[in-house]
Amino acid sequence: MSIYLTPVKFSNTTLLSSVVEELSHKFKDGVKTINVDLNIDEAFSKEREQYFSTQIISEAIKKTNNLDGKVLILTDVDLYIPVLTFVFGEAQLNGKHSIVSVCRLHEEFYYERTDENLLRERTMKEIFHELGHNFGLKHCADWDCVMHSSTSIEEVDIKGNNYCKNCEREVLH
Ligand SMILES: [Zn+2]
Ligand SMILES: [Zn+2]
Repeated sequence: MSIYLTPVKFSNTTLLSSVVEELSHKFKDGVKTINVDLNIDEAFSKEREQYFSTQIISEAIKKTNNLDGKVLILTDVDLYIPVLTFVFGEAQLNGKHSIVSVCRLHEEFYYERTDENLLRERTMKEIFHELGHNFGLKHCADWDCVMHSSTSIEEVDIKGNNYCKNCEREVLH
């Protein structure tokens, strides 16, 4: 299953290269970076100063539903769904599309320091997590598993950075 990595309002080219490399290790069918002309202005909420992730996914579906593989949007912008203050990402369960924001994965979002290694690790966790949903996985009770839910940065850091054996089977079957 190919993975189509789709940067949208995403500026960190170093991080993008690392993501492609790490995804390629796991998904042997290949990882491609594609440029999709996505207009996400409509998804912006002036009150919240955030973007509605579900709406961005809907836009992406219109333009990329013909692709044979998973379409993962990577973005710098802060995301929300109406019932939550923010989301790190969102994915269609058993579907093709997902989105991950690195906005709140930066250490400098919380503290006055940067940590590129930590940013990369957090980004991969959230990417594997959202892709897992695309492959039909729900949340996993195992804290060592990347499919454990994480609603705060502490939980992102606590959970493991790979799938547990059961989850891995679903993703790489
Ligand atoms: Zn989840
Ligand atoms: Zn698991």
